[in-house]
Amino acid sequence: MRRQLKTIYAEISWYCDPWEAATLKTRHGERIFTNHGKYTPCNLLDPIKNPAQQNPLFWQDVRQWYFALMNNDIDKIQGYYRLYGQLNVIPPDEKYDYQGYDFGLHSYEDAWRFNEEALGWFNFLTCLTDWLKKKKFGPLWELFGKPRVTNSGSIDLYPEANSPLDLQSLGLYQIRYSIPSIIPLEKLRDPAFVRPTKYEHQTPQDDTQLLQAVWNVIVDQVEMMMNEIELTPFRGGDATKPNLTWRFRVYGAFQAAFLQWYFQELADVNIEKCAKSGCEKIVPPDRRKYCSKQCYAAAAKQRQRIRKAMEV
Ligand SMILES: [Zn+2]
Repeated sequence: MRRQLKTIYAEISWYCDPWEAATLKTRHGERIFTNHGKYTPCNLLDPIKNPAQQNPLFWQDVRQWYFALMNNDIDKIQGYYRLYGQLNVIPPDEKYDYQGYDFGLHSYEDAWRFNEEALGWFNFLTCLTDWLKKKKFGPLWELFGKPRVTNSGSIDLYPEANSPLDLQSLGLYQIRYSIPSIIPLEKLRDPAFVRPTKYEHQTPQDDTQLLQAVWNVIVDQVEMMMNEIELTPFRGGDATKPNLTWRFRVYGAFQAAFLQWYFQELADVNIEKCAKSGCEKIVPPDRRKYCSKQCYAAAAKQRQRIRKAMEV
């Protein structure tokens, strides 16, 4: 059964407020801004700049932000703040209606950690999607492990077991695959059925099941983040556009990058299997009906052969 990713097209509404004069220093091993350079009159007078609308590579740049943090590259981190302003990620313990400020509500230490967690999550999710679309089975099998039956009901995909992040407060940015039970659903629904104390779960057994599992994980994560983003109707003054348009309202580079990635890389994707008989591959977003030129050609030949056979 294929799970649909429900999509809506809307503009990304974000007032990008770069911290143009941000100065980042290390003091006693802690990264501290000696100057945020925010809310300068110059910024307020600037026309609204929205990199998520203007630069198609914006989300990839934000993805790299993670590595700047992990490598503690002070110059690069400072550069990102000067370009895009705050990330404004949602701290794991303030999941709902969060509209915060990178270093406002929390200690520096916590704020940096939240940023690392969230950017790591984004980096992981975008890689996972890329592997799915390109069918890179190597790293995907590495993540899910060999086909097996297990008593454990889930696999932690992110963070990895040997992650350099010290994550105790997770939840929001944790990616977990729930391994389906081998007990049929009808049995579980039957009130007379006595559940065994130990469930047996079955991990993906072949490439098709693996791709399906990855897709489910991605849809879960996307829905989770979409749930955090406010969608508002907007009456535009542009006569060439419909009267009512929709806007995703975001308050920092993190969700702006997430949305841009979502619209560019995911909104159009629906998993479809190749139409050539005997081929079980998934049709990538840049192709229609057939997974590859080879399958398209093979299917055309097959049709030709059938026509010939009927002529005789
Ligand atoms: Zn095919």
